[in-house]
Parts: sequence; C-alpha cells; structure tokens
Amino acid sequence: MRCSFCGRSEREVQLLMPGLNGCICNECAERANELAHEYLGKIAEESVPTLDIKNLPKPEEIKKYLDDYVIGQDEAKKYLSVAVYNHYKRLVQKKTDDDVEIEKSNIIMVGPTGTGKTLLAKTIARLLKVPFAIVDATVLTEAGYVGEDIESLLTRLLQACDYNVKEAERGIVFIDEIDKIARKGDNPSITRDVSGEGVQQGLLKLLEGSIVNVPPQGGRKHPEQKMIPVDTKNILFICGGAFEGIERKIAQRLNTHVVGYGTNSKVRRVEQEKLLHFVAPQDLRSFGLIPEIIGRLPILTNLEPLDRNALLRILTEPKNAIVKQYQKLFKMDGVELIVPQEVLEYVVDKAIEYKLGARGLRSIFETIMIDAMYQAPSSRKRKYTVTLDYAKHQLEKSNFEYLKDAS
Ligand code: ADP
Repeated sequence: MRCSFCGRSEREVQLLMPGLNGCICNECAERANELAHEYLGKIAEESVPTLDIKNLPKPEEIKKYLDDYVIGQDEAKKYLSVAVYNHYKRLVQKKTDDDVEIEKSNIIMVGPTGTGKTLLAKTIARLLKVPFAIVDATVLTEAGYVGEDIESLLTRLLQACDYNVKEAERGIVFIDEIDKIARKGDNPSITRDVSGEGVQQGLLKLLEGSIVNVPPQGGRKHPEQKMIPVDTKNILFICGGAFEGIERKIAQRLNTHVVGYGTNSKVRRVEQEKLLHFVAPQDLRSFGLIPEIIGRLPILTNLEPLDRNALLRILTEPKNAIVKQYQKLFKMDGVELIVPQEVLEYVVDKAIEYKLGARGLRSIFETIMIDAMYQAPSSRKRKYTVTLDYAKHQLEKSNFEYLKDAS
C-alpha cells in the first residue's frame, strides 16, 4: 500500500490511512489540513456580511434604543442616529450613473466631562451591524516620541473584527478626548509640540481617507512588525471631547458679534451653561484644532451639562440604572431593596456639592451601601430600606467629606 499523494510506502511513513480508492499518509493529511485552513481563512477574510437597508435600524429606532440607557442629550442622540444610518447607506450604495457619491460625515461631540459622550458611544456599539472601537486620543504622540502612533487607533477596530480587514474598513471609530491633541498656545515653535499639531496632521490622514499601515498589536511601530494596510475611506469617525474652557471662546466670539451688529441683548444674557449650544467650528479652531481637522468633522453637536433633575433620573431610569443594579444584587439574596426619594435626592445633592457630576453618583451610592451589602446576605431580613439618616451617617463616617476640599 502506498500514499496516493506522495507515493511513499507503508514502511516509510508513520501512518497510512486507507480511503475508498487510495490511501493518505499522516504527513500529506497534515499538509492538506493546513491548505484547507489557509483557503477557508482567505475566503472568510474577503467576505463581509451584506447589509440590507430594509433590515437596518432607522434613525428613530436607534434614538429610542439610546433613550433606554442615556438620559437627555436629545440633540446629540439625533445627530448620532442619523450619522450611523447614513453610514450604512453609504456602505450599501451602488455605483450608478448619476455620479452622486454619498460622502462620509464624521462627527464631533463637545460636552463637559461626565455628561454621557462615552456612554452614548458604548450604547450605540451594541446596536451596530459594523465593527466598532472606542479609542483614546490622549495616548497619541508624534512619531518618534514616547507614546502611541496615530495608526494604532485602528488596531482596536481590527481586533473588533478578528483582523478581517475588509470588515474593519467599513467600521466606526469613536475617538475620545480629542481636545487633548489641540495645540497648546498660539506659538507651537517655542517647544516641540509633541502631542499637538503633529498628531493632528497624522489624524487628518486617517479622517480624510487613505491607506495607512496599522501595527497589528498596537502601540509603537517597530521595523520587525508586519503592518496591515487599511483603507480608511469608508471608516466613520466620531470624536468626543470636553473642550474645557471653550465657553470663553464662544462668549468672546458672540460678544464681538454683538458689537459688530448692534446690540442683541438676547445673546448677551446667555448663561454660561447654555453657551455650549452656540459652539461653532471657529471656536474649535480658537481652542487649538487645525482647520483641516475641523473641515473633516463636518457635524458638530454638543452635550448639555446635567442638571439636578437629570442626575436624579440617571439614578433610577436607565435600563441599567445604578439603583436597579443594587436592587438586583439584593434580590439575588432574596432581599427587596427600597431606596426612598429623599435618599436619591440626597445622593444627587452630594454629587453636585462635591462637583462630581454623574460619575460621582455611583461612588456616593456605593459608599452608602457598603455596610448593607456586607450584612444583608447573612441577615434574615427580607426587606431593606435605606433611610435618609442611615445614608447621611454612612457618608459622613466615610472619607467622602475629604473630596469636598479636593475639588
Ligand atoms: P463623558 O462625557 O466624560 O464621556 P461618560 O459617558 O463616561 O462621560 O459618563 C460617565 C458615567 O456617568 C456613565 O458611565 C454613566 O453612568 C453616567 N452618565 C453620564 N451621563 C449620563 C446620561 N446622560 N445618562 C445616563 N447616565 C449618564
């Protein structure tokens, strides 16, 4: 008996497996296995699921989904929903003879920290039919300096779809803290502006749409590493940043406007908080973003600061609201957790007092609940009510008070 592939006899190989009309040796079987893997892998890489516009969530549906998890921020939600839907449309567009090609519209969201920018991005990610990655702009520095290369922004996206390049090329990237790469000061030449303009130029390349070499493991590029070329033409970029202090730039601009065009008392009376509503591309420029970048982020929207009422709603309304999470934890021990309205209000007031915003709600609530969480599972009580006095006592005996001075 001989292997029908390599012709070697039974004595020359370790194993010879008989088939219907011939035999195969262990070595040929292994090689065949390798070839099959390679071939199937290639097919998988080249195939991307087809999108059918009829089955994709419409902007109103996307917004409704966001409403379940994110309180307020209607304007930003609307812009995001439309942008995502249009992104799908661009992907399914066919080459027609009308020569109209839908171009991508990257987005930039401006809003104070802790108002839900990242939460919006994370929530929308769950609904998307294309790969999605959240990346942070603060780690980026100019090539040649300590930090990560700009191209590494796309590594996460590649990882999100198992390095299927075709799939990544139609994905969405959320770049958080974009304001951190704004040029500091007006004269960049005094010291090298490592994380400023050079990084912006690099980012511009990605936003514009070009073929960039992405390090598969992220971080810094080094010569031995094999790069993966990715075309960014169809990748949608959503950027978010707090742009702390941008209100001053807006106010400045609006004031000159008022002087130039006669007194418009309405604009003058705009409260500091509401100024963000009037954010315009030129304010981003005064803040330190280069005009080319701003040009590539044509949709500018803002998130509102969260007021007391919004914070109260955040505690209880979203699908995975903090209070709901705690109630679930207690329920798993067969205990019903009751948090009266006055306690919720106390938590919110403390978050405002300590200037912690929405981010602080969880840590304050956690501090109040820690002892109860410790005792409840072994107690026989089936109902646990957090009273206002208890909440006050818990917070006061913790070190939370020190935060007040820190802020
Ligand atoms: P940022 O705007 O700085 O990206 P995040 O989205 O990270 O803020 O918000 C921090 C946390 O605060 C979220 O994880 C969430 O628990 C809460 N939060 C902030 N804004 C909202 C909102 N509008 N609705 C519900 N929860 C919110």
